[in-house]
Amino acid sequence: LTSNTPLNWTHRLNQLGPSFFTRLHPTPVAAPRWAMRNTALLHSLGWPMDLLSDTHLAAFAGNALLPGSDPLATVYSGHQFGVWAGQLGDGRALWLGEAQSLQGPQEIQLKGAGPTPYSRRGDGRAVLRSSIREYLCSEAMHGLGIPTSRALCLVASPEPVRREAWETAAIVTRVAPSFLRFGHVEHFAARQDLQSLQTLADHVIAHHLPECQARAARWGGNTYAALLDVVQERTASLMAQWQAVGFCHGVMNTDNMSLLGLTIDYGPFQFMDGFDPGHICNHSDTQGRYAYARQPNIAYWNLYALAQALMPLIGDEDLTEQVLEGYKTLFPRLLGDAMRAKLGLTGELAKEEQREQDWSLVEDLLQLLASERVDYTVFWRRLSHAMAQDDGAWQFAQVHWQGVSDLLLDRPRLLAWLARYQTRAGSALPKALGEQMLRTNPKFVLRNHLAEIAIRQATQGDDSEIATLQDLLHSPFDEHPGFESYAQLPPDWAGQLEISCSS
Ligand code: AMP
Ligand code: MG
Ligand code: MG
Repeated sequence: LTSNTPLNWTHRLNQLGPSFFTRLHPTPVAAPRWAMRNTALLHSLGWPMDLLSDTHLAAFAGNALLPGSDPLATVYSGHQFGVWAGQLGDGRALWLGEAQSLQGPQEIQLKGAGPTPYSRRGDGRAVLRSSIREYLCSEAMHGLGIPTSRALCLVASPEPVRREAWETAAIVTRVAPSFLRFGHVEHFAARQDLQSLQTLADHVIAHHLPECQARAARWGGNTYAALLDVVQERTASLMAQWQAVGFCHGVMNTDNMSLLGLTIDYGPFQFMDGFDPGHICNHSDTQGRYAYARQPNIAYWNLYALAQALMPLIGDEDLTEQVLEGYKTLFPRLLGDAMRAKLGLTGELAKEEQREQDWSLVEDLLQLLASERVDYTVFWRRLSHAMAQDDGAWQFAQVHWQGVSDLLLDRPRLLAWLARYQTRAGSALPKALGEQMLRTNPKFVLRNHLAEIAIRQATQGDDSEIATLQDLLHSPFDEHPGFESYAQLPPDWAGQLEISCSS
């Protein structure tokens, strides 16, 4: 590739030293074509439009190198399904480098660009199906305001890839301030390579979580305790946001947990349709370890593993325990606030002394939704609309409340709950609450069946459906007239979709 590099590279990860990665080139694929290009992301990063021109298709296919990139695969370890798995590493992700952007330095990775020394028995590839899911869900999460890696582009190739059946290859280019995981820290702790462990922690603190410096004061000047504290906080915040929007990650292994509190590694994830706390979205998760309602506890389990790995640096078991304790109070607070926001109870209305009472209001509603497997997204959106249309009479028999009551069989129970909600709202105008709620409860989420339709079309070479979804999901709180079908209850066949780890 001869064109000038359009990026202002800042490469910092590659300064860490050889124990952290292996340099290697991507493996070319046959006949690459663009399936998606994220010009909105390009704009927001301030990267030149030329980056996603045909000149660079070869680079995003892994068939050429962006000038100035320094491709490498990093090594990490981790706990998979609660069991120590030893060394894992970037088995199919390739770090191209880090470049300056309007949002600060961003790392760029190709996912599916061929085998690395960490591929174990894998082929280093990703199939088009799972790459579309990763691309779209990254963008959906961003649209929802939930921290996530982003998807810059998607390149498809007719090259065959073997999974349960033969599929075809694709490469997603993903972007994040850092792709470092809990598993990176665990790796050096398990090896008892304390030098590298400290180098890594110092790198994260200096370049990605500088707030640790000020936070250390809270922990007797212990910067590594502060690091655990900041990761704990970001993880608690992420879990609150996942739970509130009804998102199941599906594979919350420690190697899929971002040190920056980002949603990363989209696999068998699902935005729930009918509300079911026990919902398992990963067909390979036979024990339900990563069921929806267990995610916050699993995050704690993962933080505990991270804490064990940081212990040699923190050097104080009691202090470590104390830091971890923070999660147990912070997460419920953040979830409580996120759920109150879904009810329009924000600002003046979200009083500290009302926390407990509000949580029981939320819990009773969730139990009601669970008892009839009411569609989670549709329920919250219809409740928001009903509120926005209410003139303050709270007459639940009126037509604008019908969308809500139509969703449930047990009307008396719903009405009793609504009456409590009305009491709680007090003199606040439902219209004002409702308008707030329409900015909090999305109309569009990436339901499995929507992704499936886009995947089927893209497999036939028609990428228009992926583009439509990207558009809707970039602004999921907007009405998007004419796209009602994307916001409706899922079709019957949606319940039959089985999404496994195979990707
Ligand atoms: P995951 O649970 O999908 O995040 O992957 C767990 C580990 O398996 C990571 O080290 C991945 O890089 C690796 N891996 C997954 N799929 C492949 C593949 N097709 N080829 C090589 N490595 C893979
Ligand atoms: Mg992973
Ligand atoms: Mg994966």
